[in-house]
Amino acid sequence: MRTPLIAGNWKMNGSLALVDSFARALAERGVPATADVALMLPAPYLHAAHQAFAELPVALGGQTLYHQPSGAFTGEVSASMLGDCGARYVLVGHSERRELFGEDDAEVLARVKAVLGAELTPVLCVGETLEERDAGRTEAVVLGQLAAVFDALAADERSRMVVAYEPVWAIGTGRTATPEQAQQVHAALRAHLATYDPTLAEGLRLLYGGSMKAANAAELLAQPDIDGGLVGGASLQVDDFLAICQSAG
Ligand code: PEP
Repeated sequence: MRTPLIAGNWKMNGSLALVDSFARALAERGVPATADVALMLPAPYLHAAHQAFAELPVALGGQTLYHQPSGAFTGEVSASMLGDCGARYVLVGHSERRELFGEDDAEVLARVKAVLGAELTPVLCVGETLEERDAGRTEAVVLGQLAAVFDALAADERSRMVVAYEPVWAIGTGRTATPEQAQQVHAALRAHLATYDPTLAEGLRLLYGGSMKAANAAELLAQPDIDGGLVGGASLQVDDFLAICQSAG
């Protein structure tokens, strides 16, 4: 049985005040025990959040990292630094990173390896653009992004991954994949994982991301191969985020 994971992605939003108000609101209202809950925060807020969330069942995550462990890479942050500041998860290959910052599959793989090397959990994001979907290339694109990483990992590394399917056309657009569209891609991802190892495919969590909100979360999360959500915009409002967490499990 896969425990659902609901992970908020604040992107480059929020403040220390929002970290504090989230922690207070979650402490007052309670975090549902039916799902694992995580917040992927801007790196500068992780340490304060680690303290603010210390008594809460909310894991923290980073949104990106550089693949080198240390050195002359001004402005970059390593996996172990994120871990030092309380992160347990790190997003890798988010479409905004791929598109805006030129991270290709080789760089994504190097970053996944760095996250695993720091004993953290990579959340590998895959997804097609609208153009690719319209050209009938959805599965080829997402399975290609998956294989670019999974082909290069050892069996024990594969089992430590989380994968998020995020159709690029649904991220931040208000346009959500239908539950059927999402389920179809999730099933294809799981079938591909089974080619490495059926037990891996059975156990690995596949999250959906792309305009998930309180109003559509339950239907998406009810699909057999959707094991949670990666939530952008709706994770900035504690009511919306909690409602999505309550829809899981
Ligand atoms: C995301 O940033 O991963 C995301 C899914 O964003 P949104 O929920 O805002 O579409």
